[in-house]
Amino acid sequence: MTHRARKRFGQNFLHDPIVIRKIMDAIDPRPGDHLVEIGPGQAALTLPLLQRAGELDAIEIDRDLAPRVEAACAGHGALRLHNADALKFDFATLRTDARPLRLVGNLPYNISTPILFHLLDYREMVRDMHFMLQKEVVERMAAAPGGKTYGRLSVMLQAWCEVERLFDIGPGAFRPAPKVDSSIVRLRPRPAGSVDIRDPALFGEVVRHAFAQRRKTLRNTLKGLLDSGRIAACGIDPGARAETLSVDDFIRLANGAAPDSLPQ
Ligand code: SAM
Repeated sequence: MTHRARKRFGQNFLHDPIVIRKIMDAIDPRPGDHLVEIGPGQAALTLPLLQRAGELDAIEIDRDLAPRVEAACAGHGALRLHNADALKFDFATLRTDARPLRLVGNLPYNISTPILFHLLDYREMVRDMHFMLQKEVVERMAAAPGGKTYGRLSVMLQAWCEVERLFDIGPGAFRPAPKVDSSIVRLRPRPAGSVDIRDPALFGEVVRHAFAQRRKTLRNTLKGLLDSGRIAACGIDPGARAETLSVDDFIRLANGAAPDSLPQ
């Protein structure tokens, strides 16, 4: 029986073998890799991933799909299927040995931003992530300062990860076809210790406030976190707007807002 794609779970299933192959080549799964797939769906990526790596954890919210994934993958390696919501899933529970996780997913578009923020919490145990997302979201993830696409998502991801936009995929590669174009993006968490963010929660707050009203100046948006003097002491113009600041500027600002940066 065919599965009726569920809109609420963002189900657009990949069926184009050329696209699937291109994605596999980008991920380049190897035996011994600890792969984790979010949303295996009907196993379009799961099966080739499993065939190349020999084992895989997969997290799927739609319990009706479990028998399909299991049947498609039977005899092709060790599949550990978790019926769960990836947004609430504790990825640390998958880490049973020293191997870092390699995350993969053709992600449902309706949860793309929250899942990316959720996954940032696990960055220290992750080697890389390859995701298919709405093209416009990938543009925002990889955007450079100065334009409209540069925002909170760009700064938060680029601060912790190297973000690489790989290639685009048209709607025809999916069933049902989505209304938007998709892109594949690779995220590589920066090595622990190489990111000089003193207080990650405060960094997140500074970035969130700065972009909450993008047309306002930092002097206004950062009220309560940093006053004009402190902003200027970080080498940043309090009259500037968030979209003109580099990721390093935000890191300096957040470190300048930390209580231990007060003059003694
Ligand atoms: N990987 C398959 C493919 O490429 O054909 C399916 C991709 S489809 C765009 C997204 C998949 O994620 C669906 O199987 C859907 O049920 C699942 N999904 C949606 N929301 C989820 C969530 N919160 N946690 C885990 N899986 C989810």
